[in-house]
Amino acid sequence: MENKFATCLNCMDGRTQLPVIQWITSQYPVDHVDMITEAGMVEILSSEKYDTKLLKKLNISTINHGSQMIFVVGHHDCAANPVSDELHQKQINLSINVIKNLIPSLPVIGLWLDENFKVKKL
Ligand SMILES: [Zn+2]
Repeated sequence: MENKFATCLNCMDGRTQLPVIQWITSQYPVDHVDMITEAGMVEILSSEKYDTKLLKKLNISTINHGSQMIFVVGHHDCAANPVSDELHQKQINLSINVIKNLIPSLPVIGLWLDENFKVKKL
């Protein structure tokens, strides 16, 4: 049984989970996606307001599970982060830099979910 992991920093919004898991496992040689969620994740990451619990989850995924890549996700119509899509995507890019500084050894990829909850790689 293969156990290749990816790590995903996503919103808690229930509309965002399945599309992201399906997209990642179809595009990359990944069996499982460790999903770390917060309401409005990229607002929290981009403003560096994350807590130690989030760092602990990141470490479990990247160290214990040996995750090969990290995804950062934002989405249209986010109740927790009601900013324009343009600013939202800017926050995703800022979040990528924050995570790259924390974990320089892994690729960090930004994903955007549009109004149809279709995944777009940034
Ligand atoms: Zn959201």
